[in-house]
Amino acid sequence: MSTRGGTRETARKGSLPNAFSKRKKNLMSENRFQAYASLQPGARLQPWEYEPEPLGKAEIEIRVTHNGLCHTDIHMRDNDWGISTYPLVAGHEVVGIVTQTGADVVTLAVGDRVGFGWIRDACRQCDHCLQGEENTCREGYTGLILGHHGGFADKLRAPADFAYKLPDALDSSSAAPLLCAGITVYMPLRTYMTRPAMKVGVMGIGGLGHLAVKYAKAMGAEVTVFSTSPDKEAETKAFGAHHFHIWENTEAMKKARSSQDLIIHTSPEATNSETALNLLANNGTLCLVGLPTGSIDISVTALVFGQKTVAGSLVGGRGFMREMLDFSAVHKITPMVETMPLSQVNEAMDKVAANKARYRIVLTAE
Ligand SMILES: [Zn+2]
Ligand SMILES: [Zn+2]
Repeated sequence: MSTRGGTRETARKGSLPNAFSKRKKNLMSENRFQAYASLQPGARLQPWEYEPEPLGKAEIEIRVTHNGLCHTDIHMRDNDWGISTYPLVAGHEVVGIVTQTGADVVTLAVGDRVGFGWIRDACRQCDHCLQGEENTCREGYTGLILGHHGGFADKLRAPADFAYKLPDALDSSSAAPLLCAGITVYMPLRTYMTRPAMKVGVMGIGGLGHLAVKYAKAMGAEVTVFSTSPDKEAETKAFGAHHFHIWENTEAMKKARSSQDLIIHTSPEATNSETALNLLANNGTLCLVGLPTGSIDISVTALVFGQKTVAGSLVGGRGFMREMLDFSAVHKITPMVETMPLSQVNEAMDKVAANKARYRIVLTAE
């Protein structure tokens, strides 16, 4: 993943080590963005400000109003994948109002309500990009929070072509989580659901899983949820699931063997993949969209004898982002959210890490 561009940074008085305060003298512009940043791996977020790069001709500036809180923000805070840079301003399910447009921007205007997701930019030239699959750009896409500062701030600047104008039918709290969680589960359903009434299993029923249930139902699937939380059964069924199984209930799990044509595995923890493979019908696909930091064991015999597929899926390209937002508006698919002010981002992260969010936290501007 490349990290083109960047931002000049400075600290609020006394809030950062010397290396940064030395630079402060040169950066006295009024136009600093007020953010919440993690200053080193694992550090809790604190108020921090930076001076953005001048607005590019093809960029827009937005006043941030909402941020969905994704588990990936916590992985990035902790540098779990070794790709974080500090100070880190996370936030990649961002909704805001356009406040400035670069000279070349013709598709958006001041006052428009837009969203940004995980991808900030891509090469736009390779065969994957030309097919609308910027998420697998051969040159490596640029991430909104990979070497750039994300949405946990009052403002954000990023390329206009990767901003998504939001359908009126989606309010901003509902739209924010769709920009990462929504597309993350929409894409594998869009890719692997090849006929109506396919049996689709959803493993893990959090921010991703509850949206997977809603999309799969709207696409015509028979949906089964596999969860470790018995208290989520009633809500899960209200989201549209036809069946609900507790992972530890060995009898129910035995009955469910070889039943699922597609399983969307959303858990941020590596779980027993052999059990998941055994739930798949022949020719079925197990698609991993959560990002466990560990690895999984795969039974080759289960794979070969059942002609099963293990796949991964990472967000989606621009065309599919637009389609997902339209689909959500038409079918009234919105996440169940609880809102908290951005200033409580640390408490919100604790809640997500403890698996206590129901089902997505959205951080709102003060
Ligand atoms: Zn995310
Ligand atoms: Zn590309």
